[in-house]
Amino acid sequence: MADRLEPILPGSYLGILGGGQLGRMFTQAAQAMGYKVCVLDPGSDSPAGSIAEKFIQAEYTDSAALNEMAALCSSVSTEFENVPAQALDELESLGVFVAPRSSCVSLAQNRIAEKNFLATWKSETNIGPAPSFVIEHEADIAHTPTDLFPGILKTARMGYDGKGQATVYSSEELNAAWNEFGRVPCVLEKRMDLDFEVSALVVRGYDDAVVAYPVAQNIHRNGILHTSTVPAPSLKPAQEKKIIDAAKALIRKIDYVGVLCVEFFVLKNGDIIANEIAPRPHNSGHYTMDACVSSQFEQQVRAMARLPLGDTRQLAPVSMLNLLGDLWFEGSEDKAREPAWNKVLAHPDAKLHLYGKSAPRIGRKMGHINCLGEALNEARQNCAAVATELGIEP
Ligand code: ADP
Ligand code: MG
Repeated sequence: MADRLEPILPGSYLGILGGGQLGRMFTQAAQAMGYKVCVLDPGSDSPAGSIAEKFIQAEYTDSAALNEMAALCSSVSTEFENVPAQALDELESLGVFVAPRSSCVSLAQNRIAEKNFLATWKSETNIGPAPSFVIEHEADIAHTPTDLFPGILKTARMGYDGKGQATVYSSEELNAAWNEFGRVPCVLEKRMDLDFEVSALVVRGYDDAVVAYPVAQNIHRNGILHTSTVPAPSLKPAQEKKIIDAAKALIRKIDYVGVLCVEFFVLKNGDIIANEIAPRPHNSGHYTMDACVSSQFEQQVRAMARLPLGDTRQLAPVSMLNLLGDLWFEGSEDKAREPAWNKVLAHPDAKLHLYGKSAPRIGRKMGHINCLGEALNEARQNCAAVATELGIEP
């Protein structure tokens, strides 16, 4: 066994690639524990860059910037999966502890690799992906198994929040959609009969310890996460166990260090399907910030600093409500105004998190509210009341 590295103690710099809200909440967790943070992001005004001790504005592939980061940080993590794998490799070659490593991040960058990965381990996780077929060349369309229709065509790369997806009912529609996407590599996935959607959040430490959070039940609107409720109201205990076991098996398989989210579909017939993985803290895990002993961002800090992991125990039922830029335009389509947070905060169990983004835009993630309750029903009612207060359909 290779020599084990020492933990990186508070006072040191930790680095994060990406300056969005996930990078910002990571930065806040790291700073709360006494670390300094270096953010690398191409944008000039980023939610994380504006609060970090050090902000390097550069492209992820900028060697000078990566060298500067490596000189400062003994450990680096990423806030999103589309950071070029070569940036992670370059940091590693400069002696930085990169967690999760680039091979794990690459897996989540490409749906073809991701579906293969999920299918490969099905015998050990007991949960496989939806049936699918890879479309890379025009000839593939004619060979598409017809039982995949109606299906969802998804671009292999750069899809998120339902972008880069089209539902198709026939090979003619498949052909049209594939051309529409610019004939890039895609996966056609059979459209499954979903009952509901859930996500598992697992963390693996440098010491090989693996911990799991309670599974969240997620509702999406227009392809974007709307609410996450925990404990998952529709999930049976046996299903939750199966899902957590699968996520734990997956994180071990790839020797992953850090926070990993795995999305699952629960079908009307009770079957469970593994959908996709995110190699980072996840929107559906924001509930952990107020409802659990350790937040997912604290765990990201612990894992990359090679510290023991924190307790994932849930302290209160919770329903998280996402806040999109749309809220700033209620009542006026061209003039943004600040929503009435005072009314939200009149609900003492509502914990408001805003990401410090200067420009609200329709569909842009601006913040979230964790609505707690003594019982699950109370948390859900609080969430509905807060949503109504803001003019969001609960
Ligand atoms: P994204 O990267 O945009 O999150 P997903 O693959 O998670 O892409 O798809 C977004 C949403 O589309 C899912 O949360 C689910 O509601 C729906 N969806 C995706 N794939 C399927 C499928 N095979 N069958 C039914 N619904 C699906
Ligand atoms: Mg998804």
